Amino acid sequence: MKLVEYEGKDIFIKYSIPVSKRYGVIKELEEISKLNIDGYPVVIKAQVLTGGRGKAGGVKIAKNYEEAKKIISAMLGMTLVTHQTGPCGVKVEEVLIEKATDISREIYISVVMDRKISSPTVISSKEGGMSIEELARNKPELIVKMPVDVESGLMDWQARELAYKLEIEKELFGEFIKFAKNLVRVFIDYDASLVEVNPLIITKENKLIALDSKVIIDDNSIFRHKELLHLPDRESSELEREAKKFEINYIGLDGNIGCMVNGAGLAMATLDTIKLAGGDAANFLDVGGGANVEQITNAFKIILKDKKVKAILVNIFGGIMKCDNIAKGIVEAAKNVCIKVPVVVRLEGTNVKEGKKILSESGLKFVQADSLWDGCQKAVSLSK
Ligand code: GDP
Ligand code: MN
Repeated sequence: MKLVEYEGKDIFIKYSIPVSKRYGVIKELEEISKLNIDGYPVVIKAQVLTGGRGKAGGVKIAKNYEEAKKIISAMLGMTLVTHQTGPCGVKVEEVLIEKATDISREIYISVVMDRKISSPTVISSKEGGMSIEELARNKPELIVKMPVDVESGLMDWQARELAYKLEIEKELFGEFIKFAKNLVRVFIDYDASLVEVNPLIITKENKLIALDSKVIIDDNSIFRHKELLHLPDRESSELEREAKKFEINYIGLDGNIGCMVNGAGLAMATLDTIKLAGGDAANFLDVGGGANVEQITNAFKIILKDKKVKAILVNIFGGIMKCDNIAKGIVEAAKNVCIKVPVVVRLEGTNVKEGKKILSESGLKFVQADSLWDGCQKAVSLSK
């Protein structure tokens, strides 16, 4: 689960990590009149799940109210294309408005999971602000790594060593140590896979501020962080959210062959085989273990909501569920849903003969396949 900047900063605030003064987060230009902005300049920041907003026009400074209104009205609704989004970009639906700060120095600091040593690691550099990937390539000697013990968090001496290496000013040492230890706390307490502050700044008044936040939480741990469940799901498409309600694992893709498969492994193999046969899948869809009439009906509905779909490939392995029962489910579901595209069905496993018979005697137009390869080829040719 990826958090947008202000959600990450909400966590920072709980951990006494200093952030810029916030005037508000708004979705409509009119809401600006309700904010209590007590001084200019302010910084206006697009709240989207991508980095590189600054370079792409998603971070702007306004010197007065009129300018702020102009920037916000241009930013809300714009499609932000950054080096991380791909050419389609992301739509800006919310902006964060904060007090602007005079920056004297930008530092990079993050906590990530280092899989090689199976422990969190602080990565930092005294040259922050720009892309850390670039820095790692061009000036690797400026990158400081510090492994962290999960039980004890970042130790004082480690934070001090970081402060030395980052050339933190003496009078900010205490503040930096507190900051670094709290940042690691956030990482551990929230089961994060990444907590990044780029840039951590030292202001002209010699204060430390986390100017940006990037927080990614391990999805498998969300049940331990109930308060995160209330946050909007910003990563899924509308269809993906709908599928989630039915407990169907669905991920939308770019192709035109809708896939209904049981089991994630078989689903992956199906996508690969479709590709090999010269086509492109419209989705990854794992109906789950049940594969009963209700789940299959829901799956058909979800697949058909994607208007790109020109053919459907059902690839189900009858293991615990027998093929004849699955076939009955498919027939029943197909009657419930208006399917106007060809449906290729490949069944394999227990009672497959009986299953195929049920499909062919159903009076519905299923194209049957004898193998995964056969099914994929048929689906690809029907989708063209
Ligand atoms: P990102 O580009 O998506 O990582 O967005 P950031 O929040 O990191 O902002 C990008 C850049 O905008 C920062 O590196 C700063 O240089 C600049 N910036 C952001 N907030 C302020 C501010 O309050 N004052 C000034 N002077 N610059 C800012
Ligand atoms: Mn940043």
